[in-house]
Amino acid sequence: MASANTGFVGIDFGGTNLRGGLVDSRGFIVKRAAVLTAASEGKDKVISRIVSLAQKLSAGEAFPVGVASPGPIDSSTGVLYNPPNLPGWGVVDLRKELAGRLNREVYVQNDANMTAFGEFCHGAGRGARSMLCLTVGTGIGSGLILDGHLYTGEHGLAAELGHTVIDLNGPVCGCGNRGCLESFAAAKGMVRQVRNLIAAGEKTALQAVEDELTAELIGSAAAGGDAVAVKALRRTGTYLGVAISNTLALLDIALVVLGGGIANAGELLLEPIRDAVNATLIDSDLRRPKIVPSELGDDAAILGISSYSRSST
Ligand SMILES: [Zn+2]
Repeated sequence: MASANTGFVGIDFGGTNLRGGLVDSRGFIVKRAAVLTAASEGKDKVISRIVSLAQKLSAGEAFPVGVASPGPIDSSTGVLYNPPNLPGWGVVDLRKELAGRLNREVYVQNDANMTAFGEFCHGAGRGARSMLCLTVGTGIGSGLILDGHLYTGEHGLAAELGHTVIDLNGPVCGCGNRGCLESFAAAKGMVRQVRNLIAAGEKTALQAVEDELTAELIGSAAAGGDAVAVKALRRTGTYLGVAISNTLALLDIALVVLGGGIANAGELLLEPIRDAVNATLIDSDLRRPKIVPSELGDDAAILGISSYSRSST
């Protein structure tokens, strides 16, 4: 168990960036560093970058290190099993590899769960008893707090809302299934919606960049009032809202926290989500769920793995 009275190095292992922070005993990030992940260069180079980042943030001290990593992960061992977002990695004992090179305590947990735990302890979920936290960007990550505890399930694989199927005939998802929520409501899905609207003859300034469309460009265009971009965000919000509604009907959760790059669109996304939840959730008058933006943004996973490792045995 990581001591509560010392520093802790938290690292958010993202597909694009490795972001690290030295977290003090009160849960404040007192030092930061980041480097590009460059996952395509392979696992040995990425692991070396994680080691260097941890050493840089530790400044000669042997602070424990926690990595919030893409899954699937066996959270009891820190072993990654063929993560779809890290092609070619196969099965990697990330905790053992890092502990061997850093020679100190190392923790490895699922990034979406750690984001949820960070928001629960330090952000938009403070004081909540139950919470669903969604990170919507390149993919869709999600984490669940139930009765005041992070719920990770029988195999540490709970809360994969992004890979619940919403259309059996939908597009192929990165996980191999067809029609997962992620294939509709993450970045690629939003780009596909804009291309479909253009193909249907709708006019948009995004036509000029159709081959290089990104979720970020769509978000900016929507903020500027582009009707096609607004429509794509509205559809994305509707898909997310229906998936959220299904989760709330099942678990009677009172709070949903939304983060990630696509969530930067703010009310342009939150409003259609709330509309879809209100339209589909049974007993919504009694439940009145709150759907709010993340408070911690990119810091959530760093703070989450620090607090989780300090509190877990
Ligand atoms: Zn999937």
